[in-house]
Amino acid sequence: MRKIVIAGNWKMYKTQAEALEFLKGFLDHLSETPDNREVILCVPFTALSTLSKNLHGGRVMIGAQNVHWETEGAYTGEVSPLMLKELGVRYVVIGHSERRQYFGETDETANLRLKTAQQYGLTPILCVGESKQQRDAGETDAHIAQQIDKGLADVDQNNLIIAYEPIWAIGTGDTCDATDANQVIGRIRSQLKNPDVPIQYGGSVKPNNIDEIMAQSEIDGVLVGGASLDPEGFARIVNYQ
Ligand code: PGA
Repeated sequence: MRKIVIAGNWKMYKTQAEALEFLKGFLDHLSETPDNREVILCVPFTALSTLSKNLHGGRVMIGAQNVHWETEGAYTGEVSPLMLKELGVRYVVIGHSERRQYFGETDETANLRLKTAQQYGLTPILCVGESKQQRDAGETDAHIAQQIDKGLADVDQNNLIIAYEPIWAIGTGDTCDATDANQVIGRIRSQLKNPDVPIQYGGSVKPNNIDEIMAQSEIDGVLVGGASLDPEGFARIVNYQ
């Protein structure tokens, strides 16, 4: 049975104090869920240490939103995998469309980051997805196939999560039709050497659409942006039946 992975991506939201406040409410609302369901909070670098200390030993795990491909060096503004490991970080989002769009990330830099993250025992969450223009032009599959091909060159598929996030569905409230997302994810899976890699859907996931999304056969979890900022709402997503 494939793992189910429910991850929140806070993006550039929440100070340390706000993160602690979130945690209280979130943990209070979490129910017992099946053992194969992993829960991850991918938070800003500045909140990692506090959350890690407060979650120690619990079922909620911590992820970062990026990592550099060297362990140290003259890379102003970057954070290395060793620095993350020391804080108890287990996961890291790589190649998010916002990183690609605003910070010049490419499939090649995503690939470098993936390989180093794995080397240092972090589990990467590689994000892929098409723009509205690409979808309208019928280029979705070709674009994603290329992102997967280049992003996963020489990457160990036994320690990996993929998130399919159509760019036009991110932060827009315009969720991708669940059966449509299921088909794209099925095609991503058919391209992998390891068919057991968990593949998430991301893009306007909310408490009111989680059940439909998780009812799909190929979808192994969700990467949640906006709706992961609200403790009760995100707990509802994690607790889906
Ligand atoms: P959203 O973001 O849930 O706010 O659409 C998803 C993401 O960017 O990971």
